Amino acid sequence: MNGKITLSAEWAKFSRKQRQKLASMLPTVAYIHRGLFHSCAGLSVRMTSSGIGQKGILANRVAVVTGSTDGIGFAIARRLARDGALVVVSSRKQQNVDRAVAALQGEGLSVVGTVCHVGKAEDRERLVATVVEHCGGLDFLVCSAGVNPLVGSTLGASEQVWDKILEVNVKAPALMLSQLVPHMEKRGRGAVVLVSSISAYVPRVELGPYNISKTALLSLTRTLSLELAPKGIRVNCLVPGVIKTDFSKVLHKNEVFWNNLKEDHKVQRIGQPEDCAGLVSFLCSPDASYITGENIAVAGFSSRL
Ligand code: NAP
Repeated sequence: MNGKITLSAEWAKFSRKQRQKLASMLPTVAYIHRGLFHSCAGLSVRMTSSGIGQKGILANRVAVVTGSTDGIGFAIARRLARDGALVVVSSRKQQNVDRAVAALQGEGLSVVGTVCHVGKAEDRERLVATVVEHCGGLDFLVCSAGVNPLVGSTLGASEQVWDKILEVNVKAPALMLSQLVPHMEKRGRGAVVLVSSISAYVPRVELGPYNISKTALLSLTRTLSLELAPKGIRVNCLVPGVIKTDFSKVLHKNEVFWNNLKEDHKVQRIGQPEDCAGLVSFLCSPDASYITGENIAVAGFSSRL
């Protein structure tokens, strides 16, 4: 062994049942191997002895973060891994998954990556299979993937635009969760964080149906928190304000918009993806074990009473 071994080759020596048992003991396994690496179509796995098994409030936990190769999702994945979790990173493009896995692995963090377009049923199934096969289950799901294909009025949106926004932003988190809940339940606990937007409270005309999809997520949070409470699974919602990512370029590069935000809400600076990550780690941690059904803004201002 030269410090790196092919996970699939090593894994292939074991039966499925043995692999699952070993996966549930991942901290120990990875410590022994000092580094596991596997990359194939749709899947990148990297675990290092320094990353896995490290101490932290989320040690020995498994987290799935959708849309996590860039922006807010990436910052969340990094933070959860730094806090001790084994994190499953995913997004639509293989090269982005590989890049994110390599970057986090370069920091000595425990990461498994797979391609998952959250709007595609077959991709969601592959993500679930990856989680079961390589992680033996999961404790946390963070749904950060979101789209806004339109900058324009709500009534100007085509049926296609409506379908895409509602499918990716609203339906996908619910469908993903329905497939993952049984695996959380087996562990007797779990935490889910949905990602809405401040535009859920303060709609902007030019964001059209996106505003509506993000308001729907607030209701999804409340509804799921009730449905899943008896199973020991908490559901909360991160509500970002303007955060500096590719996604928000159209807003944060717009001087008029920015000046209005300063004037109306006294926002002093644009948010960074890392501003969102600490809250998500807290919501997953035992410190938040009595918090569910909440939506919490990270926006530099409050839009609620
Ligand atoms: P971002 O920087 O553009 O990153 C988006 C990430 O999601 C990328 O990793 C992208 O990778 C992935 N992705 C996009 N579509 C996907 C899909 N259908 N399935 C799976 N992965 C997908 O965006 P962001 O600003 O971090 O936004 C993340 C979330 O925060 C979104 O839900 C957004 O609505 C919300 N939000 C953002 C802001 C803000 O100001 N930035 C404010 C409020 C709310 P691939 O291209 O490889 O798929």
